[in-house]
Amino acid sequence: PPYFLVILFITRLLSTTGKYKELSSLLLPKLVSLDFADKLRADPEAIESASSDYGNIVHRKPAAVLCPSSVDDIVNLVKFAYNNYSFPFTIAARGRGHSVRGQAMAHNGVVVDMMNLRNHKKGTEIIVSTNPSLGFYADVGGEQLWIDVLHATMEHGLAPVSFTDYLYLTVGGTLSNAGISGQTFRYGPQISNVYEMDVITGKGELVTCSAKKNSELFYAVLGGLGQFGIITRARIPLEPAPKRVKWVRMFYSDFSAFTKDQELLISVNGRKEKNALDYLEGSLLMDQGPPNNWRSSFFPSSDIPKIMSLVNQHGIVYCLEVAKYYDDHTQHTVDKELQELFNGLSFNTGFTFEKDVSLVQFLDRVRSGELKLQSQGLWEVPHPWINLFVPKSRISDFNSGVFRDIVLKRNITTGPVLVYPMNRNKWDDRTSAVIPEEDVFYAVGFLHSSGYDGWQAFDDQNKELLEFCDKAGIKIKQYFPHYETKEEWSKHFGTKWRTFQARKAHFDPKMMLSPGQRIFQ
Ligand code: FAD
Repeated sequence: PPYFLVILFITRLLSTTGKYKELSSLLLPKLVSLDFADKLRADPEAIESASSDYGNIVHRKPAAVLCPSSVDDIVNLVKFAYNNYSFPFTIAARGRGHSVRGQAMAHNGVVVDMMNLRNHKKGTEIIVSTNPSLGFYADVGGEQLWIDVLHATMEHGLAPVSFTDYLYLTVGGTLSNAGISGQTFRYGPQISNVYEMDVITGKGELVTCSAKKNSELFYAVLGGLGQFGIITRARIPLEPAPKRVKWVRMFYSDFSAFTKDQELLISVNGRKEKNALDYLEGSLLMDQGPPNNWRSSFFPSSDIPKIMSLVNQHGIVYCLEVAKYYDDHTQHTVDKELQELFNGLSFNTGFTFEKDVSLVQFLDRVRSGELKLQSQGLWEVPHPWINLFVPKSRISDFNSGVFRDIVLKRNITTGPVLVYPMNRNKWDDRTSAVIPEEDVFYAVGFLHSSGYDGWQAFDDQNKELLEFCDKAGIKIKQYFPHYETKEEWSKHFGTKWRTFQARKAHFDPKMMLSPGQRIFQ
C-alpha cells in the first residue's frame, strides 16, 4: 500500500502541471525510496479532511496528506521538497484546521496533519518544568491543543497566562496568528508569551530559536501566518494557577460609556498589579439572537425577558465581561477589590450578572456551547467570520457606521459580536503580527454561522463594513487576514511588508509553506 500511495501522490502532483511525462521518471524513484513514504495518504477521506476547515467556505484539495509520527518525518518532507529542483510543491502545516478561509490548505501540495503527532509521542509531548530557579515553563509540541496544555500544567498547580477564548486550537496554529482573548490587555497575546521554539524552516532545517538565539526566525514565526517555518515545539512560560474566578457581566445602553469604562479598566494592567482585572472582553446584544449563545451561556432564563426588553428599547446593548482570579489567600478580599474596580463605572443598574467558577471552567467556557451545537449538527456549518483591530480613536465611528448602521440595517447577524480593547505595549513589534499604530486598539469579531447557502449574505456584510472603514479612513487591520492581491497584502503589512518579504526570502526561499494564506502565490 505505501508504494501505491506514493505513486498516486506523485501522479496527482505531476498531472496538475502537465509535466508528468518529463518528470515522472526522475521523481518516482526518489519518492518511493523516501523514509516517510508510508506516512503519505492520498485516500479520499484524508484528502477530504485536509481540504476543508472550520470556515467551510474554501475547499482546496491537496495531492497528499503527511501523517507524521515524528518531527523527522516533517523535516524529511520539507527537505525533499526544497532540494527537489525539478518539481516544486507546496506544504501546509494543519493544526486543528480551525481557520476560516483555507489558510491551512495546500492546493495540489502536501498537507501535514500535525495532530497526528499526538498519537505517537506517548504523553511526553507536554513537559512541565517546575524548578523555581529556572522559572516555570512548559515545552509543548506545536501540535498540542491548548486545553491539553492547561490540564497538564494544572497538575503542577501552574498555568499559562494568555489564552484564546476557545482552547481546542493547536499551539502552532494560534502562535502563527497571535492568540488573543480577554487576558491580552494585561498579559499580551500568546505570541508575547513564548520563550523559545523549534521550527522547521522552508529549507528543511530544524532550528531552535528565541529572543536571544536565531531571533530573526523567532520573531518572524510569531504571528507569521505559517510563512517561515513549522513550529514543532514552543516553550511557554507558566505562573502559579489561581483556583477560582469571579466572572461578571454588566450592560450598557450607551456605547461611549461602555468603551470609556473598558479603557479605564484596561489602564490598570501591570502584571504584578493587584488591582488589575485578569480578563476583560465585551460583546453586543441585539434582538436577532438570544443573549445566551455558544460562546457561553451566562444569563439566568428568568432574566431573559428583562434583558430582551432593554435590547428592544435600544437596538443594541453592550455587554462588558470581566473576570478576576482568586485563591485561598484572596478569597475574602476579591469581592472588595472588584467593588473598588467597579466604583464609578456607568453600567446600567439592575443588569449585573455574576458567576463564581473554577479556573478550568472559566478558561474552557466555550466547550459546552460547542458540544451542544455539534449535537444539533450546527457546528460544522459555514462560518463567514471577520475579525478586525480598530484604533481606539475611531471606535465610536465604527459603532455608528458599522454596528448601528450596517449591522442593524442588514439584520442578519445572529452569532456573537465581540468588541474589547487591548494595549499595544503588550505586543512586541518585532513579531510578524500586524496591529494598529495607536496605544489602545479594539478587537472586533463577527463570529457568524450561516446555513450552507447563506454565507454569501454575511460576506457581503463583511465587504460592506470593510468598504465603510476604507472610505471613512478608519485604519483597521484584519486579524486572520484574508486578501487576494499583493497590493492588499502590502497595505496590510504596511511598514512591516519589506521585512516580511525579506524574511520569506531568507527562511522559505522557494515559497513552499502555508500557501493557503495566499500571500506569496
Ligand atoms: P490551523 O487552522 O490548522 O492553521 C492556521 C495557520 O497556521 C495555517 O496557515 C497553518 O498552515 C499554520 N499552522 C498550523 N500549525 C502550524 C505550526 N505548527 N507551525 C506553523 N504554522 C502552522 N483566535 C484567537 O486568537 N482568539 C480566540 O479567542 C479564538 N477563538 C476561536 C474560536 C473558534 C471556535 C475558532 C474556530 C477559532 C478561534 N480562533 C481564535 C482562531 C484560531 O486561533 C485560529 O484560526 C488558529 O489558526 C486555529 O488554530 P488551528 O490549530 O486550527 O490552526
